[in-house]
Amino acid sequence: MSEPSALPVVGIAVESPQHAGMVPCLDYRSEQPLSPGTLVRVPFGKRDVPGIVWQVGADAAAVGVELRDVRQALTALPPLSGAWRQLVAFAAGYYQRSLGELALAVLPPELRRLDVTQLDRRLARLKPAATAASADPAPPALSADQAVAVAALLDAAPTTHLLHGVTGSGKTEVYLQAAAHALAAGRQVLVLVPEINLTPQLEARFAQRFAGHRLVSQHSGLTPAQRLRHWLAAHLGQADLVLGTRLAVFASLPRLGLIVVDEEHDPSFKQQEGARYSARDLAVYRGRLEQVPVVLGSATPSLESWQRAEQGAYRRLALPKRIGGGALPRVRLVDMSLLPRDQVGSRALSPPLLEALQVRLSRGEQSLVLLNRRGYAPVLHCAACGWKSACPHCSAWRVFHKGDRTLRCHHCGFAERVPRACPDCGNLDIQPVGRGTERLEEQLALALPDARVARIDADTTRPKGALEAQLGAVHAGDVDVLVGTQMVTKGHDFRRITLVAAVNPDSGLFASDFRAPERLFALLMQAAGRAGRDAGQASASEMWIQTWHPRHPLYTALLAHDFAAFAAAQLRERESAGLPPFSSLALLRAEAKSAQAATDFLHAAAAAAVDLPDAAGVTVYPPVPPPVARVAGVERMQMLVESRSRGALQRMLTHWLPALHALRQKDKAHRAVLRWAVDVDPLAI
Ligand code: ADP
Ligand code: ZN
Ligand code: ZN
Repeated sequence: MSEPSALPVVGIAVESPQHAGMVPCLDYRSEQPLSPGTLVRVPFGKRDVPGIVWQVGADAAAVGVELRDVRQALTALPPLSGAWRQLVAFAAGYYQRSLGELALAVLPPELRRLDVTQLDRRLARLKPAATAASADPAPPALSADQAVAVAALLDAAPTTHLLHGVTGSGKTEVYLQAAAHALAAGRQVLVLVPEINLTPQLEARFAQRFAGHRLVSQHSGLTPAQRLRHWLAAHLGQADLVLGTRLAVFASLPRLGLIVVDEEHDPSFKQQEGARYSARDLAVYRGRLEQVPVVLGSATPSLESWQRAEQGAYRRLALPKRIGGGALPRVRLVDMSLLPRDQVGSRALSPPLLEALQVRLSRGEQSLVLLNRRGYAPVLHCAACGWKSACPHCSAWRVFHKGDRTLRCHHCGFAERVPRACPDCGNLDIQPVGRGTERLEEQLALALPDARVARIDADTTRPKGALEAQLGAVHAGDVDVLVGTQMVTKGHDFRRITLVAAVNPDSGLFASDFRAPERLFALLMQAAGRAGRDAGQASASEMWIQTWHPRHPLYTALLAHDFAAFAAAQLRERESAGLPPFSSLALLRAEAKSAQAATDFLHAAAAAAVDLPDAAGVTVYPPVPPPVARVAGVERMQMLVESRSRGALQRMLTHWLPALHALRQKDKAHRAVLRWAVDVDPLAI
């Protein structure tokens, strides 16, 4: 590197204002030499903003330009490592965001605010590294399958592993023992889970096993001060284990030795706003970058991961049996089309299912009844004039919530008291149509008068601590029949549930989103996993499915608990349709006050794509509205971009984005577009 004669020049990643394009770094002068990765404060316009030193040395473009000085360098903090910067740079490039925006967005907000003095104070207040007061308790002896999995993870050549095992097959124990090896070697372990709800349980297990090590969590449920403390503990190497949700994939870990992604198929690993990154995919990238093993664990892996394992890109590790030899619940399909007409009607529960619930009740066992729709009824209807409870701001119905007598829109939140009569014709007899968990709870209580029925969904768990209290009641045996949405299928270890029933799962079979069957299969497998966790009761446990399509291949695979068969069938369909993982997708979304303005913008975007260098290998489809086109008075349109080659799509997007940013500046008409965004590898289409 040649020494510049004047003050050294550094390229700084700063958070550029929204929509300002993709400026990578800004040049500043610095009195002291600064290492890449150092946190700084720099002047930006009239403000003082946080930044990260990204490169050292003059940029050709900066020569002759009057540069401003770095105000403060937070040198008390070790610089962010080269690997961390490479991860962030890759994510920014891949998901088409500006480097500075992403790099700063993934740091704790408190850290971005600190100046040198405040940082010193925070650092002084940090607890020293955990004193190994207690020894870690002895782990159980591994089963043969687990031993193979752990040995593979400790292999000399670190790679990505897909740990495929049903609920209760001992995946977590594999994580724990692989983590023990990493910790013994003085390395840090990163564990990613899909949802905050799931962190306390896994955290408890890790904390109990690794009593002599320091564990911190990183998720959005922490206070800003906690987030900063936990981030610093990881960055300074004081914490040995970091457990967190998707954002934690960007944790700064100087001694990283193992990455675990639990429930790797879960859609929550994909960020749905801002930089729409997949934490699962970035974890795999990070593992390769830092040469550490990655474990992706699931009972129902994503088809993307499954396909990579099939191709040999990931190493597959299988735990086909439950620990303790417990059987998987027997799956029973209730063919709704065979029931006498008067027994189906508006009733949610078929007589055979009610009978099965009654039997469990008389034996003192618990049941879980699953319905993935909250509220009492998805719509209210006036038979006299045809009025329906539409949301005035969205292209959606407002849901009837009987508990608080409201009509509530689940898209924009708009809520009103339920009208006593039809707002259009005054008819007093307006009827709920269809059913949600609230109504199901009511119907169950009527049908099983002796049962203690409880409900867990996003409505019942809103108050802080409510979920824990409700789960506690289930565990204590104060509930006989639990009604819930998919929320209750995730992770919770219900010992006494011997029957799980899905009352209306068919909609997932024919939804427009090509991933709907994959989601449905995962949901039902996961739900089935809630039954018979107690090996003593496993043989008697059952999963009931009420369906109008009992011969659908998805259910056939479920009957046999055969994920491989399901995955193979789905992958064949995806391949013939040219869908992921056999192609790569990106979605360009636009929002405007009118659908026409959004559509015009997307048409202009498509026109701008035609002449791009890699346009030949990329197909741009016509704009279409998403399933719910209008939300909170804003019209949304989207346009799919597809390529057989991930590289071609990436190159095309990199050229396309600057053109998209320029569109609104060049043409006044496009200013009507309120927001637009590119979603690379979108999950919901
Ligand atoms: P999963 O994560 O696949 O659901 P877990 O790791 O939670 O499975 O294991 C299920 C149960 O079996 C847990 O109670 C766990 O403590 C126990 N377990 C796991 N592995 C072993 C083992 N090798 N020996 C004894 N018990 C085990
Ligand atoms: Zn009416
Ligand atoms: Zn609405």
